[in-house]
Parts: sequence; C-alpha cells; structure tokens
Amino acid sequence: MIDISETEDFDNGVAYDPFDTAPVRLTVDLGALSENWRDMARRSGGARTAAVVKADAYGLGLEDCGTALYEAGARDFFVAVPQEGATLRTYAPDARIYVLSGIWPGQEDFFFDHDLVPVLASEEQLAFWMSVIADRDDHPCALHVDTGFNRLGLPLEDALALADDVSRPASFSPVLVMSHLHSGDNPSSPLSRVQLEAFQQIAEAFEGIEASLSASAGIFLGSEYHFDLTRPGIAVYGGEAVNGMQPLKPVAKAEARIVQIREAAAGSTVSYGATHQLSRNSRLAVVSAGYADGYLRSLSGSGVPLRAGGTSGAFGFVGNTRVPVLGRVTMDMVIFDITDVPEGDVRVGDYIELFGPNIPLDEAARAGGTIGYELLTSLGLRHERRYIDAND
Ligand SMILES: *Cc1c(COP(=O)(O)O)cnc(C)c1O
Repeated sequence: MIDISETEDFDNGVAYDPFDTAPVRLTVDLGALSENWRDMARRSGGARTAAVVKADAYGLGLEDCGTALYEAGARDFFVAVPQEGATLRTYAPDARIYVLSGIWPGQEDFFFDHDLVPVLASEEQLAFWMSVIADRDDHPCALHVDTGFNRLGLPLEDALALADDVSRPASFSPVLVMSHLHSGDNPSSPLSRVQLEAFQQIAEAFEGIEASLSASAGIFLGSEYHFDLTRPGIAVYGGEAVNGMQPLKPVAKAEARIVQIREAAAGSTVSYGATHQLSRNSRLAVVSAGYADGYLRSLSGSGVPLRAGGTSGAFGFVGNTRVPVLGRVTMDMVIFDITDVPEGDVRVGDYIELFGPNIPLDEAARAGGTIGYELLTSLGLRHERRYIDAND
C-alpha cells in the first residue's frame, strides 16, 4: 500500500495558470494565422481576400481568430450560419459578413439587425428575399450559383436568366455572385476548368457585380480562378489546401498531459478489447485526451476498422521522439508507446503533442482516415486554450 505521508508536499497556496496544468490544451498562434492570411492575400494577386471563419473559425475560436484576421486586414468574412455572423459582428464592426447557408423566413430581422449578407442558394431563398426587400430598404445579398458541385446554388440557367430579368425589383442589389469548386485540391482534375468556364459566363452576365470562385485550393490554380474576391479557409488555419502540397505555417498545437507512465510486460495487452498485444517489455504513457476531445477513435493503433489492413495509427510527439498510439483510443484517455523515448526525456506531467509543429495536422488526420478540417472542427470543449503570437 502507498503511504501518502511519504508523497511529496504539494503547496496548495500556489496559483497555477490553468494552461500549465490542463489535462488537454490547445495553443493557437495568431501570428501564424495572420501571416498565412496575408500569404493567401498575396497569392490572390489583384483580387481582394476574404476570411472564412465558419464553425468557430475551424474550431480555433471565432472571437480571437476573427479579431486577428480583421486586424490583419480582412474586411470580408464568410460564416455558415447567422448566429456565427452575429458573434463576429462584435469584433468586425465594419466588415461585410456573408452567411453561406442563406436565409429562412423569420430570420430577416436578425440579418438586418446584425447587418449580415445572405448568400442566396436556391429558388426558394431567392423568392423569399425578393419579398423581404419589397417591404424594406434594400440590403445587400449574394448569389450562389451551382457550377457542378450539386451542393448549394441556383442552377446556371436560372442565374443567367435572373441576370437578364428586367422585371426584377430595383431594390434587389446583389453585391457578389459566387460558386465553389469541388476538386480544387486536385490540380490535375480537368473538372475545375469546366467549373471555371461555367462561372466565367456568370461573372460576365452579372458584370459590375463582384465575383468569387476560389477557396484555398482554387487560389493555387492560378489567377484565372481569382476573380474579384477569394475565400481561403483551411490554408489560413495551417491545413493542407492542395493534396500533397506543403501547408503554410502551423497554427494549432493540441497536447495532452501524461497522467501515468506504466511498465508493461511483453505478452500483455493494451486498452479496450485487448486488440494490441505487446511484443516487448514496454513503457506506456497514458494521456488525458480522447475521442471526446476530438482525438478520433479512428486514430487508434489497433482494434478499429481502419486498422484492419495492418496500417499504423496516429503518432504523438514527446521527448523529441515520435510515439505511436497503442490499442484503442478511449473517450478520455489514449495510450502511447514511449519505450523508445530515453528515460530522462519523458515524465509524468509532461505533455504529448497530438498535432502541431511536430505532428502535422494532415498527417494525424490521414491516420484517422479523415482531413485536417475535420480534426480541427472536432476539437471538443475541454481544451484549455492559449492564444499566442510566436513572433512576439
Ligand atoms: C468552407 C468554404 C470555403 C473555404 O474553404 P477552404 O477549403 O477551407 O479554403 C470557401 N467557400 C465556401 C463556399 C465554403 O463552404
């Protein structure tokens, strides 16, 4: 039995910074974020560059990221839903804020009060918007035209007809026509050009109104794809925009604290389902993060369908060493094999990097069968967050 009188004295009078003791924590480098946005703005050439901050700024925090991007110079923002727009309005007082999901009856006061621009994406939304502006002052809107994605947008022919429709109300004042590429991340796809050519017709038909086609990936396809406004998201957050292309600066670092280090004998098994059997005497580090923190169960070292082909799971980073996940990721805990980390280089209480500068976001995502976007937007509520500017 452990005699607790012999354990170390803890000084309970010390005020700890919650970040220094957090079981799971996230560092967001706002300096890198701003630099990445400016980098995408440079790559956008003559086009203006928006910032896409939907889904709580890709999971990294709308308030801090939105403010940093505004300070970096962004004045056009895209959010997915009106509530995100209202939150952002506080930090971006004079910005133009586009709401990608458009507008539903009953939301018009909300859009007017927070000065949000609905991106109209269907006949129903368009008809509703016409009725709204008939009764009120005009208010900017945007038109989303489908050029082959089959997700959101007016059919091409309908959009062209609308451009020529002399009977449309004078107060109908779109400020942007936009579309979205489905395969921009694959530079060898011939389909982006098909979409480009369709969108060129739209941009011409709506001459005098700004046009926007490209998200992060499209910006890399060349200046033809830039039009008047670009809409980068993932590249600004440090994720891979184009398959196989080195991302810009890493922005987010996720870490989990080592709760326990255990010696485990060869032949014993690890985690739920005993799906990993140790082939050597091992040192295991148990960290306090799990799938409830967005460290997906599919990142497991074994025991999940993705590992059926015998591929390895995710790696963490500690003591200058890449360390593999062993067995299944659980809700609040993950077990890493630290046998190969020199003994003095890792201790209980240290943090293992889950992704960040040493384990690229997209490498971790691929191990879980997904993309960096999903790993970022899955970050749970338990991460203690710290916002830094690494250049300061
Ligand atoms: C999410 C989104 C973007 C940003 O895409 P990234 O790939 O993250 O750069 C731009 N436009 C639309 C319509 C989107 O839905």
